[in-house]
Amino acid sequence: MMDKMNGKQDIRSLPFEALKDEIIKLGMPAFRAKQIYNWIHVKLVMDFEEMKNISRGDRERLKDIFYLDPMAVRDVQISSIDGTRKYLFLLSDGTMIESVWMEYHHGNSVCISSQAGCRMGCKFCASTIDGLARNLSVGEMLAQVYAITRDTGKRVSNVVVMGSGEPLDNYDQLLTFLHMISDEQGLCISQRNLTVSTCGLVPKILELAEEGLSITLAISLHAPDDALRQTMMPIARVYSIKQILEACRVYYGKTGRRLTFEYSLVKDVNDTRHHALKLAELLRGMNCHVNLIPVNPIKERKFQQSDRTNQQEFKKLLEKNGINATIRREMGRDIDGACGQLRRRHMDGQNGNTIKA
Ligand code: SAH
Repeated sequence: MMDKMNGKQDIRSLPFEALKDEIIKLGMPAFRAKQIYNWIHVKLVMDFEEMKNISRGDRERLKDIFYLDPMAVRDVQISSIDGTRKYLFLLSDGTMIESVWMEYHHGNSVCISSQAGCRMGCKFCASTIDGLARNLSVGEMLAQVYAITRDTGKRVSNVVVMGSGEPLDNYDQLLTFLHMISDEQGLCISQRNLTVSTCGLVPKILELAEEGLSITLAISLHAPDDALRQTMMPIARVYSIKQILEACRVYYGKTGRRLTFEYSLVKDVNDTRHHALKLAELLRGMNCHVNLIPVNPIKERKFQQSDRTNQQEFKKLLEKNGINATIRREMGRDIDGACGQLRRRHMDGQNGNTIKA
């Protein structure tokens, strides 16, 4: 993880109290911490030089021990269909990460990455093909939202941690991120508007249930039985659907938050009537919502999208059986849509850190 660059600490990763301690240690007055925190987390500056009310001397001292990643934009793809923007950021150590901006009627949403690459190995996902490069720091998660807010000039109302990576595999950083992005001293995005998507790391779901957060938890299910799920997601060999659903019940019991289940529809793999009925059976009685995602084909894999009629049929069968379901609107169909595709296009074969000339 990148909390340090050339021995310097990532100042954006520090929660207010921690920043205050550091500032006092530097011999600066405590109110300076408030000003600096505000520059970073409200005014969203990307450079110490932008901190106008901090004296040049103090800025220099900050620069001696801290760094602030400028979040260089390596590429942006803008959909001509719906205005969706896909950003590729180049971090200070050469790592590249993707984030997505989507405009909906109910507000603007940013989808962020929690790791560079991923080690979960889901068969249909582009982010995991080269494995995990590294965890992202708290600051690097925040900065994706900040850089996009600056670039669009519009307020972000929802953040979904559904980009590259498995957020619960970077748990401590994720948790601090969730606190800081919803904090009154920062962008103050309501926790109800934050969603974390997981492939189902059961112990971490149980841990998250205890944190007193009111975020939405989304579970990537993708199959109604373990045998099929194991062919799509290696993690299914570690945790059974039964264990996941038990953890979900605990999560709901503790938080009162309705769960979302994600189900990517893959032609002839998991999209038949039989699968829909089995899924409905599985989720019966749970306060949940099923998000059906027509699988986004990636060139490295053979998975095909379900036919439109199958998608509709699947949704109707769930609804008939009392399960709430929506088919996720495909945003940015004309740009590299699937998680990790843009990053991969810019990467040199196996090495997650190498940039193509
Ligand atoms: N690791 C987390 C979050 C990242 S992926 C998780 O597994 O939930 C966000 C969602 O997109 C997951 O449901 C994932 O399974 C799904 N996804 C990944 N690649 C996809 C693709 N090519 N088409 C459709 N959905 C995909």
